[in-house]
Order: sequence, then structure tokens, then C-alpha cells
Amino acid sequence: MSPVAESIVCVECGGPAGLLTGFPPDDPPMPGDIVAYRCADCMERFDLVVDDADLEDD
Ligand SMILES: [Zn+2]
Repeated sequence: MSPVAESIVCVECGGPAGLLTGFPPDDPPMPGDIVAYRCADCMERFDLVVDDADLEDD
């Protein structure tokens, strides 16, 4: 199970924004890492910083 969301809602248009950054199972994202998403509708890119709350929320 991914410790970060595989998709988010685009803040620009409300469309689905998918995770661009892949993480191998033996190198999971850590707090402070950057994960990138790209919107399928408007192609806007979003870079989010992983925090502890993200990693605890599954
Ligand atoms: Zn969008």
C-alpha cells in the first residue's frame, strides 16, 4: 500500500491529478520528500511535501 495518495483533486480545475513520482517498496517516501502530481485535465503540476500526517493516514 502506498504511504502517499496516488491521486489528488486538482486545485485549479477539480480534475484528477495523478502521482508522478514512483517509490520502490524498499525506499518509501519520508517526511520532507517531494511528491509530484499532474492533473489529467489541465496538465497543471503540483509538488507536495510529504509530512508525518500523510504517512500515518492509511
Ligand atoms: Zn486541473
